[in-house]
Amino acid sequence: MRTVYINGKFVPENEAKISIFDRSFLFSHGVYEVTSVLNGGLIDHQGHVRRLSRSLANAQIPFELISDDILKVQKRLIELNQLQEGLIYLQVSRGAEDRDFIPSESLKPTIIMFTQEKALLNPPQVVDGIKVISVDDIRWRRRDVKAVGLLAPVLAKEEARCKGAQDAWMIEDGYITEGTSNNAYILTKENTIVTRQLSHDILHGITREAILAVAMAMDLTIEERPFTLEEAYDAREAFITSASTFVWPVVEINNQEIAQGRPGAITLEIRKKYIDRALANLA
Ligand code: PMP
Repeated sequence: MRTVYINGKFVPENEAKISIFDRSFLFSHGVYEVTSVLNGGLIDHQGHVRRLSRSLANAQIPFELISDDILKVQKRLIELNQLQEGLIYLQVSRGAEDRDFIPSESLKPTIIMFTQEKALLNPPQVVDGIKVISVDDIRWRRRDVKAVGLLAPVLAKEEARCKGAQDAWMIEDGYITEGTSNNAYILTKENTIVTRQLSHDILHGITREAILAVAMAMDLTIEERPFTLEEAYDAREAFITSASTFVWPVVEINNQEIAQGRPGAITLEIRKKYIDRALANLA
């Protein structure tokens, strides 16, 4: 049984209890982070804490965030659960009290963390690539806030599964925003990486930031701009990034093969370089 963390305590997972009045549960009034773990160390810790701090401020959750304290708890959880390869999930909600849209000023936030084992280094999706479908982006307008209301991605992933695909790219006003739980990229025939620019329209992926630095060091040209499905169908390669996938090749979009249906060479090189860089900088 796992040991998890809740409001300052490490407890067995079946003893960790959240109130039915918790605002994450009633209003989705909570924010979260997913950080990956390799060799028992954390990847991109600073970036995830920085984004958490921004999400907390935007969601008006007055939580005093101390990066070193978060790291200490996460390292202890890794140790207690002997986690080598997987994820740490962290969520802060506005807290629990009688249901009312406006929280009491004095209400204390709820914080939880738990570990999850997951094969990150050699999952089948890297060998085979993934198939994606396109869906309407029906999410709210502040996708840069990493908030827990995830019904739209849940439904999109389910639609993808029903259609024999593994994920969906979301479309707004004719352009791809991002994947349901990842950022989306194409490599054009001119070897330019195209991914949507940062704004309120997408989550500012921590992996995205690292991957663009890796691509730049490989002397690839990067264009941060919206791109269409037609451009994607015509791309040399396509891929997604997130903390829990690193880089996964996309080999089919709406049943149209990309890169002859095989993971692209440059995609795999970016993935390898990202992992090398992550392993050399574990927290
Ligand atoms: N976009 C969305 C909508 C996501 O949910 C995620 C993963 N949380 C990402 C992008 C990728 O972000 P990161 O690289 O920080 O995991």
